[in-house]
Amino acid sequence: MDWPSIISDIEHAVEPVRGQGTVANYIPALAAVDPNKFGLAVVLGDGQTFCIGDSEETFSIQSISKVFTLSMALRVVGDALWQRVGKEPSGSPFNSIVQLEAERGIPRNPLINAGAIVVTDHLVEQIGSPQTVTDLLDRLRTLAEDDSINIDESVAKSESLAGERNRALASFMKSYGNLNCSVEDTLSAYFAHCSIAMSCHQLARAALFLAFDGCDPLSGQQMVSNEACRRINAVMMSCGHYDNSGDFTYRIGLPGKSGVGGGILVIAPGHGAATVWSPGLNSAGTSAVGSVALETLVKATGWSVFV
Ligand code: GLN
Repeated sequence: MDWPSIISDIEHAVEPVRGQGTVANYIPALAAVDPNKFGLAVVLGDGQTFCIGDSEETFSIQSISKVFTLSMALRVVGDALWQRVGKEPSGSPFNSIVQLEAERGIPRNPLINAGAIVVTDHLVEQIGSPQTVTDLLDRLRTLAEDDSINIDESVAKSESLAGERNRALASFMKSYGNLNCSVEDTLSAYFAHCSIAMSCHQLARAALFLAFDGCDPLSGQQMVSNEACRRINAVMMSCGHYDNSGDFTYRIGLPGKSGVGGGILVIAPGHGAATVWSPGLNSAGTSAVGSVALETLVKATGWSVFV
């Protein structure tokens, strides 16, 4: 693979669109981020790493954290998880409440807010709210080989202050018996994991196990079973980008997860993991410039799972 030429293709594709999209503004810490930031990191199975732009700068990982909590929950509770959360794309915004009534408090999938809150509730029930966050941070630090990874406390505080929609989702699910812990215990862990700050490089490194059947190829540690890994990737492919999951799969053809901080993580099974960051979002909350960069990456590498 000619990586210098792939990197140059991506840089050329990004230049004319740089700064496009709308930066999330529901909390001040996200609204203040410079829309011109752009970073990309690719980590391959043999550890080779290719970085562009602001790839070492940390940003708010937001909903990308849902992939890691899902992998923890599948380890802790196994298939029982699917009794409380579905596997279908929602076709609705990430924080939508409408489908919850028709589906009697069972969220459509674990990557929308309601579903991720149920996943976190499982973890909080098993190990408690602070321990859920501690274990997740430990896991990310080990995987990314970087002990500096942490929660941005100012983001976490704002998430809670602006968190009435998530409280509504959690309370609504609790009214149907689909939340076992208190709304505040579960949400304090949820707000904390959405507020973790990581760089493109750290995220791509931490997610590498998802490209190799659940086993981190560099440390040899089995993080999730082969089967769980396939399931996580399948859910990312069909549900990773809310109501633009279909468009993302059409354009990029890789399992992925976006966050409103402007990050997108993608998994190229058998090859590696990549993360892009550019804060301007499209109307569905997925990084606009990030999607262009990933489209170019996939075209140049032939990594789409549809070949
Ligand atoms: N913290 C955000 C929320 O819960 C995460 C949403 C996202 O990244 N799509 O609303």
